[in-house]
Amino acid sequence: MTAPGDGPRGAVIERENPSRTSELVGTVGVSGPERVDALVRRADAAQRSWAATGIARRLAALAAGADAIAGRLEPLAELLARESGKVLADCRGEVGFAGTYLRWVVEHAPAAYADREIDDAAGRLLRLPRPYGVVAAITPWNAPIILTLLKVAPALAAGNAVVVKPSPLAPLAVSEVLRLLAGALPDGTLAVVHGDAAAGAALVGHPLVRKVAFTGGGVAARQVAATAATQTTPVVLELGGNDAAIFLPDADLGTEPMRRLVLASFATSGQVCMAAKRLYVHRDRRDEFVAAYRAAAAEVLRVGDALTPGVSMGPVISAGAVARIERIVAAAVARGATALPLGTVDGGTDLAGGYFVAPTLVLNAPDDAEVITGEQFGPTVPLLLYDDEEELLARVNADELGLGGSVWSADEERAFALARRVEAGFVFVNTHNRTGLSLRAPFGGVKRSGYGREYAEEGLAEYAQTCVVHAPGPFRPGGAGLPANAYPG
Ligand code: NAD
Repeated sequence: MTAPGDGPRGAVIERENPSRTSELVGTVGVSGPERVDALVRRADAAQRSWAATGIARRLAALAAGADAIAGRLEPLAELLARESGKVLADCRGEVGFAGTYLRWVVEHAPAAYADREIDDAAGRLLRLPRPYGVVAAITPWNAPIILTLLKVAPALAAGNAVVVKPSPLAPLAVSEVLRLLAGALPDGTLAVVHGDAAAGAALVGHPLVRKVAFTGGGVAARQVAATAATQTTPVVLELGGNDAAIFLPDADLGTEPMRRLVLASFATSGQVCMAAKRLYVHRDRRDEFVAAYRAAAAEVLRVGDALTPGVSMGPVISAGAVARIERIVAAAVARGATALPLGTVDGGTDLAGGYFVAPTLVLNAPDDAEVITGEQFGPTVPLLLYDDEEELLARVNADELGLGGSVWSADEERAFALARRVEAGFVFVNTHNRTGLSLRAPFGGVKRSGYGREYAEEGLAEYAQTCVVHAPGPFRPGGAGLPANAYPG
């Protein structure tokens, strides 16, 4: 189901290995507008019979797809590691978690998408959760498989057809996952198109697309929302964050929490929407924190080729990302900050041969430095000091992004009280990033981090619209009737 090279001059996307940029991992053909149109039309034609199939058969197909993916876990994880530079253990985790999520959907979709009928004195009311039709899923490169399945699985379960456009920076493993899943489905129900913004815009603006689910950055999100608006197509936007990790004065700075915190910032080389991107520590514990943090980083952070056993941090995604992150750190240093190097380096890796960025903890950066105000999306994190909670909250909440955050404290009540006041869609307590996720907790941002939710019942609800059939009591056979212009009681 990978699109042939039918774009201008049969254009192809070549994906190199970020750990060893001289290695070509694979290619995909760019989908031109005719290809996008053909696949959306095919999906539209397939969708009605898919919806009519009934939920039990749809979920059986998803379960078969989950088994097919599980059977290919190892080669999929290796392909993902080679195209994205994410370390192999992370990639195994992502493929395995994608299967876990698929099975969660299979278990929970029957209740979420069930028709509900009330028949009483007030009337007979039928609530029907109906699919939208064709859903367009536009996804990023940093967790391409799970972020795609968070859209595809509930959308298919609800009876939609789906056309996915993955990021050109990691299109290979997710295409293989979609091929395996599509093998369990009727033809045309699930398709993939490839390319950059042009292919994405052709998909999002297609008149037969009835819903758009997007994960990515704010710039592309605004373009996607504007394109979707030309057809009045609803969108879900899952965007970036600038998560604060807040350490209250009583927080445990022991080995375990510090290891967890380091990886909350540096897993996937910091390229995670919900990474801990600003560390707020009480001024009195600064030296103790820096020492504990560096010691934990020395243990858990080993930089090198994503496929080398024992390496916990690979390269970043592209040469552009290297330049951007190095510029942000250099700009802070030029204004008086210090960038402390962290972790160790795998001796067998040729760092000059890949897109590697040395992990750093940035101290003493001014509050308006880009490493603090923007989403660095790379292996550097600033440490900020505070004196009291009100001043701290004002600084944390000053950010326009509101995806995640965390509060660390020995006193859970105190942590929850503060967490309630953090302007973010998901606040973790005593952890941060994926160790704090739960399949039963909805995930998504507030403010400029987007709208709509993934995971949990809310994530299922995004893919069905409740339609109603209603016979009001007064007008049912034997009813007392109402004046012609009456409001309901
Ligand atoms: P991006 O915005 O550059 O690209 C995302 C996708 O949109 C890609 O497939 C891209 O080709 C496509 N695209 C770009 N312009 C488009 C347009 N005009 N029309 C249609 N499609 C278009 O993001 P990225 O660099 O791939 O991902 C990194 C960003 O994603 C970060 O900001 C990160 O925080 C965010 N993110 C958010 C979540 C979340 O759940 N909230 C999860 C992961 C990543």
